[in-house]
Amino acid sequence: MSVDLITFGCRLNTYESEAMRRLATEGATDQPVVIINTCAVTAEAERQARQAIRRARRERPDARIVVTGCAAQINPDRFAEMAEVDQVLGNHEKLLAESWTGTPTPRIHVTDIMTVRETAAHLVDHFDGRARAFVQVQQGCDHRCTFCVIPLGRGNSRSVPVGGVVEQVRRLVANGYREVVLTGVDITSYGSDLPGQPRLGNLVRRLLALVPELPRLRLSSLDPAEIDEELWQALAEEPRLMPHWHLSLQAGADLILKRMKRRHLRADAVRVAERARSLRPDIVFGADIIAGFPTETEALFADSLSLVAELGLVHLHVFPYSPRPGTPAAKMPQVAGGAVKERAARLRAAGAAAFQRFLDGEVGRSATVLVEREHTGHSERFAPVIITGAMEGEVRTVRITARSGDQLLAA
Ligand code: SF4
Repeated sequence: MSVDLITFGCRLNTYESEAMRRLATEGATDQPVVIINTCAVTAEAERQARQAIRRARRERPDARIVVTGCAAQINPDRFAEMAEVDQVLGNHEKLLAESWTGTPTPRIHVTDIMTVRETAAHLVDHFDGRARAFVQVQQGCDHRCTFCVIPLGRGNSRSVPVGGVVEQVRRLVANGYREVVLTGVDITSYGSDLPGQPRLGNLVRRLLALVPELPRLRLSSLDPAEIDEELWQALAEEPRLMPHWHLSLQAGADLILKRMKRRHLRADAVRVAERARSLRPDIVFGADIIAGFPTETEALFADSLSLVAELGLVHLHVFPYSPRPGTPAAKMPQVAGGAVKERAARLRAAGAAAFQRFLDGEVGRSATVLVEREHTGHSERFAPVIITGAMEGEVRTVRITARSGDQLLAA
């Protein structure tokens, strides 16, 4: 009996899809299953999910089609009204074993995600087609940024106890994974709901101490306002913690940051970058920035653009603002659609130029590269590197000899 997964959105969804693959395989019934794990961050992500559902029904008329993920959690009826769909599962229900055993459950099986208090480690052994493993440490979010629907889809912040994370990482390393990425919705709020309130830095240090066989640990998005002292210490002292931080910046202008209800201002972001560089000179930064947030003028946008150079951002993720139903920002005066697209293009161009400069600066340096697919992988600073004759999953120390387009060549 086959289980096919179509996953949209973030690393957390990727992790949960692997957990569902395992639950659905263990709970096997006679009917093949197609699971569409949706994302609600943009209107485009939802459109693509509906398209994938229609295609799945055409291609797999015999399969049970289950739709889950944030878009299904927030708007279950929207998917339930599609004739192609057999069941809609909420983000909590999708990780319950009983949802996959053929035990009859309602066609719309979605509970109020705000009532969910716990999040357990759903042990995953394997990531289909990946040499880097994602590990969920936290779920949900207690913040309410004005543009964001994620709390509506994932509920309030809940952390996986340290022991559960350690067990999960040990399992993946035993299965040959050499790099793990700690992921969640707002990982810098890790531990606020656990006894003793261990912060993210404490988790990182205990994990590296308890799993000495793990060669590389990477972190997903960090809120610059919530980096704790132990995480700074880990950055300075733990060579296995990769010198690559992805910051959830969102904008460069203080006025926009306030209207987004972010917890940091531009000067805080600058201070974070300076402190990180003083503790770990080889660190590189990525960041999420939204283009065209409501009320953003050309001058306010220029503050986001200039942030790329001021912080030396090299791995830039640009999001054209997408009004999401139920968010305060959707009710604010909107920037014209054309300007949103145009600003996103300018930000991407600035990001691409910074990335090229970063790659040029890597030539002549040595790097350790995790080989992910045939002959390609990423360095500790997350530069894409081509290495001939290397095995998938191998970590190899190389010398960067040249740049070829958006990749580096190594010997
Ligand atoms: S911190 Fe803000 S942007 Fe991030 S998930 Fe929470 S509400 Fe959304």
